[in-house]
Amino acid sequence: MTLDQARALDATDPLAAYRDKFALPEGVIYLDGNSLGALPRATPAALADVATRQWGDRLIRSWNEGWIEAPQRIGAKIAPLIGAAADEVIIGDTTSTHLFKALVAALRSNPQRHTVLSEAGNFPTDLHIAEGAVACVPGARLKVVARADLAAALDEDTAVLLLTHVHYKTSDRFDMAAWTARAHAAGALMLWDLSHSVGAVPIDLGGADADLAVGCTYKYLNGGPGAPAFLYVAKRWQDALASPLSGWMGHAAPFAFEDAYRPAPGMKRWLAGTPAMLSTAALETALDLWVDLDQHAVATKSAALFDILAAAGDALGLDCVSPRDPAQRGSHISFRHPQAHAITQALIARGVIGDFRDPDILRLGLTPLYLSHVDVWRAGEILRETLETQAWQNPQFAQRLAVT
Ligand SMILES: *Cc1c(COP(=O)(O)O)cnc(C)c1O
Repeated sequence: MTLDQARALDATDPLAAYRDKFALPEGVIYLDGNSLGALPRATPAALADVATRQWGDRLIRSWNEGWIEAPQRIGAKIAPLIGAAADEVIIGDTTSTHLFKALVAALRSNPQRHTVLSEAGNFPTDLHIAEGAVACVPGARLKVVARADLAAALDEDTAVLLLTHVHYKTSDRFDMAAWTARAHAAGALMLWDLSHSVGAVPIDLGGADADLAVGCTYKYLNGGPGAPAFLYVAKRWQDALASPLSGWMGHAAPFAFEDAYRPAPGMKRWLAGTPAMLSTAALETALDLWVDLDQHAVATKSAALFDILAAAGDALGLDCVSPRDPAQRGSHISFRHPQAHAITQALIARGVIGDFRDPDILRLGLTPLYLSHVDVWRAGEILRETLETQAWQNPQFAQRLAVT
């Protein structure tokens, strides 16, 4: 790929206009939108409005002026991005918390089965939360096996199969329909973590007949640091499953102030406490960018951006651990290198912000909304220069920060 070829791709890019909807700093090529999405230009004004007008001026009246329905309203905006119906998604809490609720509910719904099955090397919180969830349900246990052994490990004791759709390190993507069908054939529920795939690849939970799903909104959806996460519960399960976090916001009548808990019908029962309206407002603004977006255009551009960095990596002899087939991956590319940490730091010092995943992964996120082909081409050039000059050898790049 040459600079001219990258320019030609930009000239015909149907998503080119989206770049201007984000406020990115000068001199930065941001390849970490899979960890913290960029700031939409509209978000600061929306945050100012929720703080000064909705909170400062309208005060508590705002709960009746759009706040109280926000979890369902915003869930409905996420629904088309994941192949769900508007009333199958709610936002709030964190992905970790939703995972806990979904796992405990799934285990309790079928006491004849006891096992949560998941993949070794899954995102840490998924395994940690599963460990905590099984500890809350008598007889339940967590079984964690290598990807190659998952199919054989699904058995008559599996209550729920918990998989992350796109792997946070390698970018490997599970075939959602095939794995959901396998879980169902074994009599288990299927719970997907979409944190690394929502906004990155087309998702069809309904078409796959998935039961449960969770996901982050601060990655490809650009909802802001720690933005509320989403939970999907297929309609057929909504009144059969019960949230173990039976808080008043999930009560059928929170302002009846009853002593006994009565779950609300539908998705509302998955709310626990009061929604965080400041971060909710930022998320809603970010989601408005997706309204007219063609998911397939996003996927096509993601594949083109990947090819640019894959070619740069090949020319440098780098070990690319991400699948070459776009249908089998998400929207990031990872290289394995013994000096991955120092290389990541040296790239950041040169304005190319990616991240490092222990022990040896350089991970570069490809966000089609705000990266041009030329940006990614330049990142490849800076990677080449960093490796050829061994700039990463500078001792300053050896220091590990708390967040890598
Ligand atoms: C980022 C990510 C999370 C994060 O969960 P939080 O509760 O928001 O910290 C969970 N699962 C996966 C697969 C992720 O990629």
